[in-house]
Amino acid sequence: MVSRVIPVDPFDLVIFGGTGDLARRKILPGLYRRYCSGQMEDNSRIIGAARSEHETAEFRQMIADAIAEFDPKSGSPEQLEGFLERLEYVQVDALGEAGWKELAALMGENRVRAFYFSVAPSLFGALAERLHAHGIADSETRIVVEKPFGKDLASAKALNAALAEHFDESQIYRIDHYLGKETVQNLMAVRFGNMLFEPLWNSQYIDHIQITVAETVGVDGRGEYYDRSGAMRDMVQNHLMQLLCLTAMEPPAKFDPDAVRDEKLKVIRALNAVPLEDVVRGQYLADGKKPGYLEHAGDPDSKTESFIALRVEVSNWRWAGTPFYMRTGKRLRARSSEIAVVFKETPHSIFGEEAGRHRNVLTIRLQPNEGMDLFVTIKEPGPGGMRLVDVPLDMTFAEALGPEAEDVPDAYERLIMDVIRGNQTLFMRGDEVEAAWAWADPLIASWENRGDKPVPYETGSTGPEEALAMMHREGRRWRDIRA
Ligand code: NAD
Repeated sequence: MVSRVIPVDPFDLVIFGGTGDLARRKILPGLYRRYCSGQMEDNSRIIGAARSEHETAEFRQMIADAIAEFDPKSGSPEQLEGFLERLEYVQVDALGEAGWKELAALMGENRVRAFYFSVAPSLFGALAERLHAHGIADSETRIVVEKPFGKDLASAKALNAALAEHFDESQIYRIDHYLGKETVQNLMAVRFGNMLFEPLWNSQYIDHIQITVAETVGVDGRGEYYDRSGAMRDMVQNHLMQLLCLTAMEPPAKFDPDAVRDEKLKVIRALNAVPLEDVVRGQYLADGKKPGYLEHAGDPDSKTESFIALRVEVSNWRWAGTPFYMRTGKRLRARSSEIAVVFKETPHSIFGEEAGRHRNVLTIRLQPNEGMDLFVTIKEPGPGGMRLVDVPLDMTFAEALGPEAEDVPDAYERLIMDVIRGNQTLFMRGDEVEAAWAWADPLIASWENRGDKPVPYETGSTGPEEALAMMHREGRRWRDIRA
């Protein structure tokens, strides 16, 4: 198959926080892979900007070490050399005047200018202001901002307002890396590129939808930070919400940024006010070797959840009567994220009681092994009558698409290239983020006002028993969590 890598226009990408964990682990190794694939023109540059003092040579070495650690398999020594030559470093203080003149002097002309704010959100406003004051940003400039985008509606509004003082919404790229995943986009292709699924994509044929993001890690090392947030703020309000939106949204008229984001916004606005009976919050227990959540949080009375399961309704014509169950947690049985669309059972079995009633399930796996499966019911092979069995149809199509299908860019790589191309489709708009907080805030307030304490769950389990019971109550069950 002919290479589908289309080079992007020459760019200067400034990474504020270029020496930080995210830049070293994700952003720069991702850019390196894009460089190796031939997507970056040779005159594009990446400028690390951070508070600490470094020579460009030191920064290059730091990034060479990061690539060796986090992506040792990509590229050749010559490619690494070529990539490192694209890197520059400037010491800049977001809150002071140091370094801004030097940064301004470095910027090239006639090229895309993008600024990645890979720093704490408390610095977003100051960065936007100084970029403007020093004449570094113009109406074509793009800025990329990382999560967390606020901790509630008021703080999200304040961040949006601070950015809007100097940048138009069309220049702001709010990253949710879940949207950059190949299979998440494939969900849209499958829904809107086929005749097969969309007519069935409603409460008449779909029994319920499950969205799971399970992690095996705890909050080790960042317990105090996490304890101010919790699973609802850290995962549900943003990542799981985005997955829900793409699953539930109406077909946009075209695949363009505002058409897609308008439809996602309508879904968020249609979400019900979730009653507390439809929420289970948990905290992982110590397992003998590793401490439990309360020890990690450093507060034996912490009421912050490391696990949450909730039943949500999308109150519109398409989804009335089809619940969406979402769950996410730490220290669970396996690292596994998926959306499962569980269809209704066949209304009647012509094969008799013994054959049972069966249902189709479409699973969209985000990790591990990104891909899709459609479970269909077939006859179990062999003699002995009509026994039915549910088998997965692998919809990953790696064989049909050839080896290149396996060499897909990871989420960060794809999203950064979208920034350079000026395509906002896979980024959250300001009003979407605010609507998501407007939905989450009253729910969080309702358990905080009651002083609810999360229930404990075993490390390596699928979460608290109460989350299982929430499903059983309605005659349903969670899918297994496995790698
Ligand atoms: P970090 O603490 O490792 O790095 C912070 C960076 O910001 C450093 O380069 C530091 O020099 C720079 N910095 C701090 N104060 C500055 C100032 N006044 N002026 C200029 N630069 C300054 O943080 P991180 O883990 O890389 O995270 C960066 C942002 O990305 C945070 O908002 C975080 O919430 C978000 N994020 C991180 C991850 C992750 O996996 N690390 C994942 C998602 C989102």
